[in-house]
Amino acid sequence: MTLPWTEWLPTQRWYAGRNRTVVSADTADVVPLRPHLDLMLVDVTYTSGAAERYQVVVQWDSTPPSKEGAIITDGAFDGLHDPSSAQFLLSLMDSGTTIGNVTFTKEPGVSLPLDVTPRVSTAEQSNTSVVFADQAIFKLFRRLAAGINPDIELNRVLGRAENRHVARLLGSFDTTMDGQPCPLGMVTAFAANSTEGWDMATASTRALTADGAGDGFSGEAYELGRAVASVHATLAAELGTSTDVLPVDVMRERLAAAASAVPELAEYRAAIEERYAKVAEEPVVVQRVHGDLHLGQVLRTADGWLLIDFEGEPGQPVEERRRPDSAMRDVAGMLRSFEYAAYQQLVDRTPDPELAARVKDWVDRNCASFCDGYAAEAGTDPRDHAAVLAAYELDKAVYEAGYEARFRPNWLNIPMRSIARLVG
Ligand code: ATP
Ligand code: MG
Repeated sequence: MTLPWTEWLPTQRWYAGRNRTVVSADTADVVPLRPHLDLMLVDVTYTSGAAERYQVVVQWDSTPPSKEGAIITDGAFDGLHDPSSAQFLLSLMDSGTTIGNVTFTKEPGVSLPLDVTPRVSTAEQSNTSVVFADQAIFKLFRRLAAGINPDIELNRVLGRAENRHVARLLGSFDTTMDGQPCPLGMVTAFAANSTEGWDMATASTRALTADGAGDGFSGEAYELGRAVASVHATLAAELGTSTDVLPVDVMRERLAAAASAVPELAEYRAAIEERYAKVAEEPVVVQRVHGDLHLGQVLRTADGWLLIDFEGEPGQPVEERRRPDSAMRDVAGMLRSFEYAAYQQLVDRTPDPELAARVKDWVDRNCASFCDGYAAEAGTDPRDHAAVLAAYELDKAVYEAGYEARFRPNWLNIPMRSIARLVG
């Protein structure tokens, strides 16, 4: 039976083709998992641009779940919404089953919560997660891409090395596509009762607007610095380091693109180029890194900080995202995030010099605590790599300026203030 993909896909949060015109949406492959349950790969082509392949686990049944959006057509629905089907997928990982060209694997020495009744997460995300109580979170990848998935790859390395600052990888499953591996999903330990770093940091900076000092966060910033350094150390020990020149060409391209769209950047352009030139020649130590680190990618649990989502820089091809880079790239990402968490409190507010001073003080204090914590764990202080760190911070701020000018002009001040400081 052909399924009405063209009608159903646009109703799904994870579908990325909404702004394009579909030419065709066809089932490209069917892997029967058990009676009434098929893993389906759906190819979508558009009038322009690249085709996409999506994954849907289809359950053929007469009693669909009441969940809105789960029903594909009469008698067929998204199987993740049936707890017993989600449990079944987990059991395939537990037994290390291969069905057709789909292979399910479990990490050595872990146990999966096979008896828990799962529920589909309501988080707004580009994949679909199923939560098994407070024990495991199963992420089914929706838009498929051939190649090694850095999130699975790095979580596997970090988990097997028993690094305490990641959600332990428990299992994964994949297939092949065009002769390459193609990841389909992963299961990690669920961080119960966790708070996202961004929520914690902005709760602290909100206190600044109510005349508070908002210092509650600097102990956290310190521990976060230690956690990031610990993850870097494990990645370096397990996957090695080498020396390379920094990707200054990419930084220059990004600067050129942003400068042509943001007139405010013009007066800083030469100074930024100068900063890039300073670090262009000198080889630096590179290693595998997180690649997209910010306060939204860290969870605070009762036992400490966890880094999640090792996918690397969004929108880049997978080989770019897996390229060894300076650990300072991650440090810079986190420092930028501290500035955002604080300076966003000034957006759309009448100028208030006292508040601005408190905000600046919060940023200085927490960036310093983060670097102190990083240095305590790593034995080397990020501030000793000032030129490299500044280049990465500038690169990030330049990108942000392009983004804000386009989508949130009221926020443009945040990256512009940082750029002025960094070249000042
Ligand atoms: P996005 O498209 O937003 O990047 P995604 O599909 O890549 O989403 P994740 O970023 O991995 O999914 O996770 C989405 C959310 O699920 C996270 O912001 C976090 O709140 C929660 N989450 C992820 N992993 C865990 C975990 N191990 N324990 C608890 N919560 C988690
Ligand atoms: Mg994510």
